[in-house]
Amino acid sequence: MQRPCNAKIVATLGPASADRATIESLVRAGADVFRLNFSHGTHTDHQQRLDLIRSIEADIGRPIGVLLDLQGPKLRVGTFAGGPVKLIEGSAFRLDLDREKPGDAARASLPHPEIFAALKPGAELLLDDGRLRLKVSECGEDFAETTVVNGGVLSDRKGVNVPGVVLPLSAMTAKDRADLDFGLTLGIDWIALSFVQRAADIVEAQAIIQGRAGIIAKLEKPAAIECLDEILAVTDAVMVARGDLGVEMPAEQVPAIQKRIVRACRKLGKPVIVATQMLESMVSAPVPTRAEASDVATAIYDGADAVMLSAESASGKFPIEAVAMMDRIIAQTEADPHYRDAIDASHTQPSANTPDAIGWAARSVAGLLDVAAMVAYTSSGSSALRMARERPRAPIIGMTPRRETARRLALVWGVNPVVCNDVTGVDDMTTRAVATSRQLNFAQPGQTIVIAAGVPFGTPGSTNLLHIAQID
Ligand code: PGA
Ligand code: MN
Repeated sequence: MQRPCNAKIVATLGPASADRATIESLVRAGADVFRLNFSHGTHTDHQQRLDLIRSIEADIGRPIGVLLDLQGPKLRVGTFAGGPVKLIEGSAFRLDLDREKPGDAARASLPHPEIFAALKPGAELLLDDGRLRLKVSECGEDFAETTVVNGGVLSDRKGVNVPGVVLPLSAMTAKDRADLDFGLTLGIDWIALSFVQRAADIVEAQAIIQGRAGIIAKLEKPAAIECLDEILAVTDAVMVARGDLGVEMPAEQVPAIQKRIVRACRKLGKPVIVATQMLESMVSAPVPTRAEASDVATAIYDGADAVMLSAESASGKFPIEAVAMMDRIIAQTEADPHYRDAIDASHTQPSANTPDAIGWAARSVAGLLDVAAMVAYTSSGSSALRMARERPRAPIIGMTPRRETARRLALVWGVNPVVCNDVTGVDDMTTRAVATSRQLNFAQPGQTIVIAAGVPFGTPGSTNLLHIAQID
């Protein structure tokens, strides 16, 4: 059961999609990767969902990716004695470290010493997804005096964003470390790090993960956008996390940033997911707005690897309809004759190294010989990534002896992942690539396929071989 589309769908699981029948319907409707959101739910909830995914994967016979999304250092105010309070524009509001003392209309606790250490007069704090805005007039190591710029109602444990300030916080909290350890014992394909601020956050996670899962940097802080190149150089993949990004930065800047991130990831051949509010109105309605359909299509025309559903599939009323709708928008967009022009026009020259040269050559051969399929025989997945970087017309088959690699490749543009046995040499690999292309119905007798691999087999990033084969 291969999917005919290039772009992939990431669907978040939650209370609305926790049973076997619903998850199976999501797969059949087009979900390639499931996101387990560790901001919500217990370890038992996530383990049960993972078990269901693996059992459905075995039935359907298509590798399914699983993405564990860590909550990250989400900052929150404390609680209020007499219920929600109203902050009036122009009035003073104090924040301090005193957890014990419940808040009121003039003060609240903010139990994060790191924030006070990094604040400066003039900095702005955003509360409750940006609905309220405070400007710091005076601050010390355990307090900040602020003036209310945008007023409104504030209640217990609402989120706090500090956009203009790089906080001395690691992207992983104690909860994240425990969640990560748990996920790694379960066997997860991708780990998403929330509120990444700098490349060192990725490096720190890599030291713990040690290749057992791919790392996705969620770009949702202005600080991360400022050091985008450094982060992209070390991460395996990226998520344009437009929810928090749109709180931390003016909403009108998000579209240009989204396109810049997608372009930068395509240049490097690193997978990029466009996320949040893509079909938001489908949380409560069976059809999206026209603007939402257009938003999904824009990401597809830009050549993003994947588009993501959050509340739509996790807690909305129409999870299956949302995935099916996303799948139809992708299919329609990719069938538009202008789609190819858009993808080709935004294609950039590869880097001057052997793996990129092989990917580029494979695409040229595919164009010249009108090949039926392009096969990457890959252990780490990197040969398949080099092919996908080229965004070719011909379907890509990611053939790998490692099940974990096949699952990871479920996220990648155009790649059809297939698990195969280890091969003994180039001849054996060619025979298997030919057989697989036939079996999956990508190629017929008389047609040509092009194969890329890295020799010696099993050395990650060693893509150095291009082979052309005939289906007989
Ligand atoms: P979240 O991340 O859903 O975990 O907050 C995505 C986003 O912020 O857009
Ligand atoms: Mn977020």
